[in-house]
Amino acid sequence: MPARETEAIILKTFPLGEADRVVSFLGRTSGRLRGVAAGARRLKNRFGSTLEILSHVQIWYVERETRELVRIQQAEPLESLHKAQSDYGLSTGLAVISEIAEMVLPEHEVSEAMFRLILLAAREIERTGNWELPLTYFAFWTVRLGGWLPRFDRCAACGAVFASGPAFYSPHRAGLFCEKCRRADMKPMHRDARELAERFAGERLDRIAFERSMQSSAGELRRAAFAWIELNAERRLNTPELLETP
Ligand SMILES: [Zn+2]
Repeated sequence: MPARETEAIILKTFPLGEADRVVSFLGRTSGRLRGVAAGARRLKNRFGSTLEILSHVQIWYVERETRELVRIQQAEPLESLHKAQSDYGLSTGLAVISEIAEMVLPEHEVSEAMFRLILLAAREIERTGNWELPLTYFAFWTVRLGGWLPRFDRCAACGAVFASGPAFYSPHRAGLFCEKCRRADMKPMHRDARELAERFAGERLDRIAFERSMQSSAGELRRAAFAWIELNAERRLNTPELLETP
């Protein structure tokens, strides 16, 4: 089989045997694939640092008809995320993006929108040295692109328009709800978090400046987006609890 080539984002890797690594990557023209990088665990290997989490690379691979894993021949870096990848606090933000991408992207399915979104969020973590806004934007847009975003202006149960008070979201039920329809397991999303969602819908991440005053609204919006992602994937995310505030 001839080698294929694609621009790709490395999602995660894990060891295989003594010398190799299994690599999950999102190819711009291939969708999400898993492959074996032979020799990648050896001290001196041809992959260098290209297989780090969320690395943006050009990748060459060979498909094998009878096996699930492709064979990765080569990877070349396209840009550096060195600061974010080598800082523990920042890399926890990258890890959440990676886990969500793995969870929501079906294998072999090309997603140009998700490819661009992951790249934008990772670059902004690298550029700003802070994951709060990029990760929140990423989670919001993942929900939106997935078609799981509830209405932000009225209650999903009774249709009442939200006033200036909080709306509520549930880990067990899609939608945002009003005070009257609120159940015990629901958490609040205040007006400033709903307004941040509106900004995210209309402005590019790299044009929004993060201010400390946005911290709590970003946190609320992010946790709601995580809940909607988990609800739709019917699985729990593990990495958000590792997040270290920058
Ligand atoms: Zn209601």
